[in-house]
Amino acid sequence: MKNVFFSHWQCSICGHTYQRDELRYLCPICSRKYRPGTPLPGVLEAVFDYDSIGLAARELISSEAGIQEFIDLFSAVESDFYPPLPVGLTPFYSAEGLSHENLWLKNDALNPSGSFKDRASILMVAEAKRLGIKEIVCASTGNAASSLAACAASAGFKAVIFAPASAPLAKLVQIKVYGAELHEVAGTYDDAFKAALDYSGSHDCLNRNTAYHPLTIEGKKTAGLEIFYQNGFMAPDWIVIPVGDGVILSAIHKAFVDLQRSGLCSTLPRLLAVQAQSSDAITRYWETGHYRNAPHPETIADSISVSTPSNAHMALSALRDSNGKAIRVSDLEIRQAQLDLARKTGVFAEPSSSATLAGLYKALENKWIDPSEQTVLLITGHGLKDIQAAAASL
Ligand SMILES: *Cc1c(COP(=O)(O)O)cnc(C)c1O
Ligand SMILES: [Zn+2]
Repeated sequence: MKNVFFSHWQCSICGHTYQRDELRYLCPICSRKYRPGTPLPGVLEAVFDYDSIGLAARELISSEAGIQEFIDLFSAVESDFYPPLPVGLTPFYSAEGLSHENLWLKNDALNPSGSFKDRASILMVAEAKRLGIKEIVCASTGNAASSLAACAASAGFKAVIFAPASAPLAKLVQIKVYGAELHEVAGTYDDAFKAALDYSGSHDCLNRNTAYHPLTIEGKKTAGLEIFYQNGFMAPDWIVIPVGDGVILSAIHKAFVDLQRSGLCSTLPRLLAVQAQSSDAITRYWETGHYRNAPHPETIADSISVSTPSNAHMALSALRDSNGKAIRVSDLEIRQAQLDLARKTGVFAEPSSSATLAGLYKALENKWIDPSEQTVLLITGHGLKDIQAAAASL
């Protein structure tokens, strides 16, 4: 079995360190005061043996080994535990003509279940396999659930899902087609989050709630590593990211931090966080430095509709460290961007994902982004996951 360079966990708030098998979820010190309805305190960060990664990576690069071997160097779980379903290695290519000449797309809608979430789910299933646990529970607005259902099916494991009954039909159908146990929650995503915590508190299973299990961040990190590799071992100037709980944002940042610590990359890409107007807790946090829940998230961008972003604290650090920015977009702007993206590039993205283009338009207008700067739009979810939303725009 190939070794991993994963060394230990470190709390993102108090800095306390923990061994790999000492715990699974939040920092036990910082999370003592946790109550549902607030961002998670003490989310853990995986620390690696960066010197060894740097050495191994240089050898790989000079031997012209493939991208998968490069990505595997940064994995927190041995590759032998991954189920057979191929995830990631999605296309990265120039889409000049959409908004400005130096625009690139990273199309993660092409993952097996149709969303970016497969990156986190596959790693969580690998971790469950390593620990000998055959049941995984998760709260979701829809995509994390359909993704976990697919990845668990690939390993023959049971997935238990808590999702709002109001989630788009295709996502709910996906969950059941993949054979997962679906508990439809009458309330919001935030209610589902709590229900999944209650469930894992009383069952022998692994909890995949986003940010609550720190490997969700490690799984999502692979997209940043791929962008670096596919871009000829260079960080782009900007990466535009749709933000709900703030895990994708933190994870893309973590990818470049890991690359930097390994001596492979000298610059960090600036991150543009895009949020729906009514679901803007992280944007407000970045603007004011004070955290407050988004009181009434209500948007067609269901995958980024959240009152209490679980990873708000780490997301704010990622924005500050990367010299990034955050912006709100309206549902009308999202609808227009969805059609623009589809009609100018042939990529049909779900509303949450189309929000990135709406945010990019504004950032160009505000002169936050210069048209000469290399900018990557992260396409996170497939348009066919919510055809009702698209149909309503036509
Ligand atoms: C989950 C999701 C997001 C937001 O990711 P967070 O980590 O919650 O910020 C964006 N787009 C799509 C399609 C998603 O499924
Ligand atoms: Zn702590």
